[in-house]
Amino acid sequence: MKEYKFFEQVNKAFDKAAAYTKLDKGFLEQMKACNDVLHIQFPIERDDGSVIVIDGYRVEHSHHKMPTKGGIRYSTMVSEDETMALAALMTYKCAVVDVPFGGAKGGIKIDPKNFSVTELERVTRRYTYELYKKNFIGPGNDVPAPDYGSSAREMGWIFDTYRQLTNDIDAEGCVTGKPLGQGGIRGRTEATGRGVYFGIKEACSNKEDMEELGLTTGLDGKTLVVQGLGNVGYHSAKYLTEAGSILTGVAEWDCSIHSDKGIDLEELMAYKKETGSIKGFKGTKTLKTNKSVLETKCDILIPAALENQINEENAKRIKAKIIGEAANGPTTSAAHEIIKERGALIIPDNYLNAGGVTVSYFEWLKNIQHVRFGRMGKRFEENSYKKILSVIETISDRKFTDKELEFLAQGGGERELVDSGLEETMVNAYNEINNLRKHHGVDLRTAAFISAINKVGSMYEGMGIFP
Ligand code: GLU
Repeated sequence: MKEYKFFEQVNKAFDKAAAYTKLDKGFLEQMKACNDVLHIQFPIERDDGSVIVIDGYRVEHSHHKMPTKGGIRYSTMVSEDETMALAALMTYKCAVVDVPFGGAKGGIKIDPKNFSVTELERVTRRYTYELYKKNFIGPGNDVPAPDYGSSAREMGWIFDTYRQLTNDIDAEGCVTGKPLGQGGIRGRTEATGRGVYFGIKEACSNKEDMEELGLTTGLDGKTLVVQGLGNVGYHSAKYLTEAGSILTGVAEWDCSIHSDKGIDLEELMAYKKETGSIKGFKGTKTLKTNKSVLETKCDILIPAALENQINEENAKRIKAKIIGEAANGPTTSAAHEIIKERGALIIPDNYLNAGGVTVSYFEWLKNIQHVRFGRMGKRFEENSYKKILSVIETISDRKFTDKELEFLAQGGGERELVDSGLEETMVNAYNEINNLRKHHGVDLRTAAFISAINKVGSMYEGMGIFP
């Protein structure tokens, strides 16, 4: 098997799309380049008193818009190549969904499962201190977020470390995905999965496209296989099954399970919590390998784990009609061609998993505005709706019940506004790239890259090079 080079894979997809744009070759080269690549090595004292050296990375791929934005991954697979590729994907992803940030990504090369909470806190705080010293963090320059292996807890430590080091009035905006009590926003935890749901729902509502795949419109009754039951995989599966899709397969790092009859997601999560694995869950068959379930018959396949999961080795055996890339880089370029040839639809990562960064954008806006969404307007909206409802009551002779009134006169609070902003973003961006797909006769990934290149490129237009 060929060596997997992630950054090269991203650039291959970029080059394919660049051929459909009118940008100058030099600017295209600059757009692909990583502006800043930081590799740090720092010592950490473990709970037993021993000292180990940790490798950390932060890559700011593009400064065409500031701040740069992207998660921090905690995984033993972290490398410079991976961080560069993921940072580049952030640039294109933000552009596709009109989130005004440049792309960045961070990585800490550890397996968090092998570290205690206090050790993880020391690692995170020291990493943040290193970023601060090197000017790789701040609400106006580079804003991290959760990614594979990290969550709100780590973001809370990052924020706390940063605010000890500065008296920046906007310190809360130095990181997103924070706990609610520390400047986080409602809806951020579920945002990526929620965005995956909105994106797939929009794709499945297009009659012409579904007919091409031999599918009916809508999510109801569609069979679904998910790889990875982490935050993104779980929430994607939750919203899709709530909309009527049937979960027939799940893959985790240690095994995969399948059932034609459907798997109850909440029961499975409880089982996993109790036993530490999905292996042997009632009513399911445990398959040979952890990836076998990806090859079972289904309408929608959602890789929600890591890169390079669908590659030359297994692509030919993948039967799904729709592949929704919740993870970053799950399909290699060779596998993409094989799947495309078969006529399946790949909804690409640089669009589909943008829900996380979209809600991060809302959180950052809340932080630098120092006001919660809905605080100014909620009551005003409710009072206006009540006035309209009372007019309806007078002219229609019909009295609303208290329950009806509460339902009909609801103003937008933070949760509702975040959800509405996310849906608007995912629906608009889908139609934008789907139109480009049809216009150029390309696939959706290439269309998303064309969209991104044109948007990033417009920042260069008419501008000279400084100095
Ligand atoms: N880590 C997420 C991603 O890959 C979110 C990044 C962010 O919110 O900045 O898109």
